[in-house]
Amino acid sequence: MSVNRPKIVAANWKMNLLPSDAMDLVAQYDFKFGEDAAEVVLFPPFTHISMMKAALQLGFKLGAQNCSLEQMGAFTGEIAVEMLTDLNCSHVLVGHSEARSRNSHENGWVSKKIRRALDAGLHVVYCCGESLETRLREAEYTWVGNQLSGDLSLVPAGELGQLIIAYEPIWAIGTGKNASPEQAQEMHVFIRKKMSELYGQVSAEIPILYGGSVSSANALTLAEMPDIDGVLVGGSSLKPIEFRMIFEAFRGLSEQ
Ligand code: PEP
Repeated sequence: MSVNRPKIVAANWKMNLLPSDAMDLVAQYDFKFGEDAAEVVLFPPFTHISMMKAALQLGFKLGAQNCSLEQMGAFTGEIAVEMLTDLNCSHVLVGHSEARSRNSHENGWVSKKIRRALDAGLHVVYCCGESLETRLREAEYTWVGNQLSGDLSLVPAGELGQLIIAYEPIWAIGTGKNASPEQAQEMHVFIRKKMSELYGQVSAEIPILYGGSVSSANALTLAEMPDIDGVLVGGSSLKPIEFRMIFEAFRGLSEQ
C-alpha cells in the first residue's frame, strides 16, 4: 500500500521563555510555509498559549505540553483538554519522558490522558522510548513494544488519524547524544510493525517522529530515513537559525 504521510516538525519549548518573548521567537523563526513545507507544531508552556494566536495566522499549529486526565472540575493546578481546544490548540504531548518521570506513581495515566485528548478532538503526539539501562540490556524493542500496547489500549483503530507517535530514547533527550539515523530508522520500522500487529494496515498512515538531541547537524540525515516522518525538537527549537535549518531539512519530502 502506498501512503503519503505528512512531514511534521514539532517544537517542545519545555519550561522556557517568558510569555512576552514567545512571539518574538516565532518571528525570528521566519519560516516560509509552502506546499512542500513540513507541518510545524509549537508546544509552548500553558501560560504562553493565549498570547500566540498570531502564530496560527502565520501557519503554525499550537499544542500543549500536557493535559489533565480528569474532566473539568475540582483539580487544583490541572488543565483540562477543553481549555486547550478553546485556546485553538490542535495538539497535545502525552507521555513525554520528563512527564513520565514525575508521574510514575499513577498507573495507566498515559492511556487515560490519550483518551481524554482524543475525546476533545485533539491530535495526540504520544511519546515512547527506552532508558539507557534498557538499551544496554538490549531490551529496547520489548520495552517500546510494551509501551505501545499498554499506553494505546484505549485507542480504537478508527481514531488513529488523531495519533502521532514520537520515538524519544530517554538517553538522547537533552544530552547532545542523538540516536544515529540508522538506530532511529530501525526502531521506527519496529514501531510500525507493532502498530500493524495491533491495528492492521491502517497503521501505515501514522506519522512517526524522532526526538532526542535533534540539531541542524543531524536533521538532514534523519530526514532521509524512509520511516522518519519528522522530528520533535527540544533545545534546538529555542535557537531560531537551528530550528529553521531543521524545518528546511524536511521540506519537499512529503512525496517520498
Ligand atoms: C524533547 O524534549 O522532546 C527533546 C527531544 O529534547 P531535546 O531535543 O533537547 O533532546
